[in-house]
Amino acid sequence: MPTDDEPRDFIRRKVYEDVRSGKHGGKVMTRFPPEPNGYLHIGHAKAICLDFGVAEEFGGKCNLRFDDTNPTREETEYVEAIKEDIRWLGYYWEDRLYFASDYFGKMYEYAERLVEMGKAFVCDLSPEEVREYRGTLTEPGRNSPYRNRTPEENLDLLRRMKAGEFPEGSRTLRAKIDMAHPNMNMRDPAIYRILHRSHHRTGDEWCIYPMYDYAHCLEDSIEGITHSLCTLEFEDNRPLYDWFLDQLDVFHPQQIEFARLNLTYTVLSKRKLSRLVENGVVDGWDDPRMPTLSGIRRRGYTAESIRSFVDKVGVAKRESTVDVGLLEHCVREDLNRRATRYMAVLDPLKVVIEDYPEDGEDWLDFVNNPEDESAGTRKVPFSREIYVNRKDFMMEPPRKFYRLSPGREVRLRYAYYIRCEDVVTDREGNVVELRCSHDPESRGGSTPDGRKVRGTLHWVSARHAVTVEARLYDRLFGIPNPMKAPEGGTFMDNLNPDSLRVLPEVPAEPALASLGPEDLIQLERIGYFHVDPQRSREGYPVLNMTVALRDSWAKIEKKLSGHGK
Ligand code: ATP
Ligand code: MG
Repeated sequence: MPTDDEPRDFIRRKVYEDVRSGKHGGKVMTRFPPEPNGYLHIGHAKAICLDFGVAEEFGGKCNLRFDDTNPTREETEYVEAIKEDIRWLGYYWEDRLYFASDYFGKMYEYAERLVEMGKAFVCDLSPEEVREYRGTLTEPGRNSPYRNRTPEENLDLLRRMKAGEFPEGSRTLRAKIDMAHPNMNMRDPAIYRILHRSHHRTGDEWCIYPMYDYAHCLEDSIEGITHSLCTLEFEDNRPLYDWFLDQLDVFHPQQIEFARLNLTYTVLSKRKLSRLVENGVVDGWDDPRMPTLSGIRRRGYTAESIRSFVDKVGVAKRESTVDVGLLEHCVREDLNRRATRYMAVLDPLKVVIEDYPEDGEDWLDFVNNPEDESAGTRKVPFSREIYVNRKDFMMEPPRKFYRLSPGREVRLRYAYYIRCEDVVTDREGNVVELRCSHDPESRGGSTPDGRKVRGTLHWVSARHAVTVEARLYDRLFGIPNPMKAPEGGTFMDNLNPDSLRVLPEVPAEPALASLGPEDLIQLERIGYFHVDPQRSREGYPVLNMTVALRDSWAKIEKKLSGHGK
């Protein structure tokens, strides 16, 4: 338990106080309760870091519990993906992997107990009627005509519901609380509904399934959770959470709500993300443009950078939206420390060094990572014909353009100073090649006379080049708040049509051919890239751009377009 440090946020302060006052014997027990109906996204990362983090910091434990009270089909795929994502983030549940469906028997027993106590009743109103009887925020609801059934009659009906005697939607078990309660959640909410569906774990054992509010508090109670952390939208459900536990007089965890993570340009809702997958807008849940943990992992985001991001965002009680730029900053910061630098030219323009021997070659020392001396150096080949980036040349440079132009001298990274002597154009006047001279004295990238050269370009020797594929990503949505649908449209109308750009034939220095899957690299002056584990082939790495160096996408876009202008 942290001692000297002031607790970082209101949740840790609360837990700190509970531990100090000896509540629950000073024990801390939390849980992360995903519903296995989709892949985890970066919002979930915030909850995971909080649930597991708080437990860790206060010497407690955190359970992984799948909240699988809602029978659906493909759930097993999601269960496995969720486990993998949590492990990747760096958290582990040890032997505490639970499923809410394991408690169906216990939950049902509790339901019978509520019936016997006269706190629950079987209601025959149709879903539409229930809605009608419910009232509104300003008007009280009306009692169901079935509300006064005797406990005996209710018990009999509940058992027959469970036995499968009634069709779906014909009856519900409801709590008997108060139809005039100002909190709508307290107006005799449903506890069980009839669903003749198979469940991914319990099969056809059940045809009644518990509602979220009833199930969740009991799951927490059964597991001895001390602090049940959840997002703000459950604040109005807390009275009901407490009501069930009080009526049943069982172990009573405390629910504490915090603000969910919202990110600009990003949709964080499993239901909406699954629409993108189903409609083929993206290549799957792990498409590198998706804000899912599997997507951003494939894109090259590291677990460390996500954790550092979550840390920086902090935990608050008030809703807010975080600038996605902060996430990108955290990723850059981490990759800057760990990524080996390489050279590749996304939009190549050929340069011939006229005073360099036809078949000459030179292997130059290249620093692998200026941020990490232990990463060492490697040799990079230089020859008479090289590629530079098209946008590093301008026929008529504006002021402050320090790269190549007729007569101008620049430094080639760790190689030589070259001067542009001549420009070859095609019939339309497009630049197709530059003829340059070099200064042999400047080998390695510096001159003995120390003359000033401001521009430093990355380059690739044409003869030695290997080919790689670069996949450049832009934001999946074009506006800061993609959830805001345009008039008469949906959030899908906010998609950015240019979120992916594939460059299948990028010349790169030879070392790139031997990159391994999952390697994280920096392409000098471009950005950080991740070797796609699924698309790459032997000798042909496919590089997902994780994040641009400093340039915004717009700048890269400009570099790529505007050939020969
Ligand atoms: P979604 O809204 O994306 O469908 P959910 O809340 O339905 O998410 P669950 O599987 O029920 O997803 O969530 C598991 C846990 O993660 C819950 O405790 C939930 O409060 C938390 N969580 C979900 N989204 C966020 C978010 N954006 N920020 C922080 N925590 C979140
Ligand atoms: Mg949910």
